[in-house]
Amino acid sequence: MAEETIFSKIINREIPADIVYEDDHALAFKDINPQAPVHLLIIPKQPIATINDIDDETAATVGHLYVVASKIAAEQGFAEDGYRCVMNCNEHGGQTVYHIHLHLLAGKPLGWPPYTDNKKQG
Ligand code: 5GP
Repeated sequence: MAEETIFSKIINREIPADIVYEDDHALAFKDINPQAPVHLLIIPKQPIATINDIDDETAATVGHLYVVASKIAAEQGFAEDGYRCVMNCNEHGGQTVYHIHLHLLAGKPLGWPPYTDNKKQG
């Protein structure tokens, strides 16, 4: 189980967020530091710290995040143009908040690969 994070506080309405979708199992809100014209975070209400903590019992909850992504894409009109879903894991994956979240990025052609290699050259 995940520790209390900023995202638990958003779920509990202890801190504000620009919420765009909610159901019994998931919440979606705008990322505070958007990396694309549309940058949403889709999170399970059940706290799961990292991808490494997903198991058979929580798999459906995590799979549901993709159902929410596809619903939002259809509702907001970018399903056909396309979009990207990313979930970072731990330090090398760039994870900073330890309550799993699906980044939903859209609104322009997105570059690939999506990372900057931080290793020093030579
Ligand atoms: P990670 O790096 O863990 O994959 O992504 C965490 C994301 O959460 C980042 O894109 C960051 O901008 C976003 N974030 C961090 N704190 C807050 C917050 O208080 N509110 C919102 N809406 N987004 C946040």
